[in-house]
Amino acid sequence: MTGATRGIGHAIAVRFAKEGASIAFCGRSRSDAMVAVEQELNALGVTAKGYVCDVADYQAAQDFVKQVVADFGRVDILVNNAGITDDSAVKRMSEEQFDRVMRTNVRSVFCMTKAVQPHLWRQGHGAIVNIGSVVGIAGNYNQANYAASKAAIIGFSKSCAKEFAARNIRVNVVAPGFVETEMTADIPRELMDTWCSRIPMKRPGTVDEVAQACLFLASDMCPYITSVVLPVCGGMEDA
Ligand code: NAP
Repeated sequence: MTGATRGIGHAIAVRFAKEGASIAFCGRSRSDAMVAVEQELNALGVTAKGYVCDVADYQAAQDFVKQVVADFGRVDILVNNAGITDDSAVKRMSEEQFDRVMRTNVRSVFCMTKAVQPHLWRQGHGAIVNIGSVVGIAGNYNQANYAASKAAIIGFSKSCAKEFAARNIRVNVVAPGFVETEMTADIPRELMDTWCSRIPMKRPGTVDEVAQACLFLASDMCPYITSVVLPVCGGMEDA
């Protein structure tokens, strides 16, 4: 899986490990966080290893998956979680800001899917879970680049779902609403309170609630579910 050094990705890795899954995950550097996650997952009794990979780099993604297959023997599930924001209103948004978000959020999903698909295809079995966002469905102020990237993930995922279904490879999207992580840490408390007041469940989601949805879609509990977008957002209206 991509981007498990913190936040939602970390929670997904821990949830999957608790079910006994071996975990290969990546971040952009061999940080203290990566080493700590590796140790935490190994302590749960599973094999886990962190890899350095910028997942939007095509060759790096190919090398990452090649090494994972060499180390683990196979890949059954891909979770494309790595993502960034770089917010501003469209009238102030630079070309670089737009490109950076599209590269990390969309190109990464293409690169990782290309790297993993041949292995899943050969096995005739597999699941891909891509992390979208309700913002990709509804849009959001100051997040046109991010919303475009998450909407693109939905189109890409649904296309892959059609192409891969005959090989028993399912492709689904989990679309979180507002979840408190480092990504949302800089949002002023007042604004967070305003957002939460508009959520029917009146609170942000937790990383574990997103991880549970990913586990369901990746597991054999839903062998006939593909091409869905599952919002995990406390009932936010547009989702
Ligand atoms: P986060 O705390 O900022 O974590 C992002 C993770 O992605 C980190 O582990 C980071 O690892 C990794 N990453 C970023 N760019 C990467 C790259 N180019 N190559 C490899 N790894 C990379 O974010 P989060 O809040 O957990 O969000 C996780 C996913 O959920 C994202 O796709 C985000 O868009 C989505 N989401 C979040 C929310 C929310 O409210 N938090 C809502 C909807 C959707 P390193 O820093 O170690 O490289």
